[in-house]
Amino acid sequence: MSIEKLVEIIKSSDNIVFFGGAGVSTESNIPDFRSSSGLFSQKLNKNFTPEQLVSHTFYSRYPEEFFKFYKDKLVYTEAKPNKAHLALAKLEELGKLNAVVTQNIDGLHQMAGSKNVLELHGSIHRNYCTKCNEFFDLNEMLNLDGTVPYCDKCGGIVKPDVVLYEEGLDNDIISKTVAAISSSDLLIIGGTSLVVYPAASFINYFKGSNIVLIR
Ligand SMILES: [Zn+2]
Repeated sequence: MSIEKLVEIIKSSDNIVFFGGAGVSTESNIPDFRSSSGLFSQKLNKNFTPEQLVSHTFYSRYPEEFFKFYKDKLVYTEAKPNKAHLALAKLEELGKLNAVVTQNIDGLHQMAGSKNVLELHGSIHRNYCTKCNEFFDLNEMLNLDGTVPYCDKCGGIVKPDVVLYEEGLDNDIISKTVAAISSSDLLIIGGTSLVVYPAASFINYFKGSNIVLIR
């Protein structure tokens, strides 16, 4: 499809939903963590894959290794929104776009000005103490002593509000995503492979006339 054709479709739509994945943020220098080689643990004398490292099992059994990988490969404090984030924020401001559904956890859509962002996998910007539920923003979490962030109020582990492998998605976000996609007239999918769960399953709810896939 030509850019002109895409612009034409966008102009004729007034309830756009954008569904995006890791590819949206690579221009902001955030590599897909799945592309990393994982982590070699001296203690366990073993190499772990990125998927293993960000699993709930790993987080609870080996918090030291989990947070080492997490802080190194999933958190980019200097990242800034790119043209894609800014264009989507603009479309929302113009009343054309209803929601951004993202698999990313970097918060760059909000930084670009998007208001209705449905974060399927949570956000690195929210962190909660697993004992007393105290909230920590990203900097506060990173400034806690040690590799594993322990709450400075009660000593509990501060866990990022990020959906790990083996953990379920938030039900409220799922319903909002389904509602947004099923009522949209244009669904734009960008930077994600449709074979990856949950992208494929949500797209089935689309009933509008135009669906555009940007790779
Ligand atoms: Zn606490």
